[in-house]
Amino acid sequence: MIHQQQVLRFKCTGCGKCCTGGEDHYIAMSKTEANRIRKHLDITEAWFLRHYVTHLTRKTLTARMHEGRCTFLNKEGKCRIYHLRPVQCRTYPYWPEVLESSQAWNNEAKHCEGINLGTVIPVKDITKKLTLQLKAERD
Ligand code: SF4
Ligand code: SF4
Repeated sequence: MIHQQQVLRFKCTGCGKCCTGGEDHYIAMSKTEANRIRKHLDITEAWFLRHYVTHLTRKTLTARMHEGRCTFLNKEGKCRIYHLRPVQCRTYPYWPEVLESSQAWNNEAKHCEGINLGTVIPVKDITKKLTLQLKAERD
């Protein structure tokens, strides 16, 4: 992975673009994560499933997208469940497919203005997030 071979810079500007996307974009969450969010929103399971999430696999849910925006993104472009956001959101942009090559990293920078911005991110911080993401993908 490239973070072991070159320095990587990243600084989130809070633009909210990574919370938007087309049909191929999904925000995976485990049932435990989904349940925490549902309880926080104080809504029934049926309502949560109908309006906020859908099944990605038997074990994994995904947040619904409304007109290309994550259902949890508010009008101001901020996540309204930020403290409970799924691992996928917490670990971005240190995903295996983004860290696999410099080309992949720089391609991702076309979608995320924070990539290649700011100070150098310590390797251990990147490794920690990558490990978390890999575990979430395995579970
Ligand atoms: S697209 Fe990048 S800079 Fe914008 S909110 Fe997402 S992580 Fe931050
Ligand atoms: S859950 Fe929050 S951080 Fe994750 S994509 Fe949706 S709005 Fe963005």
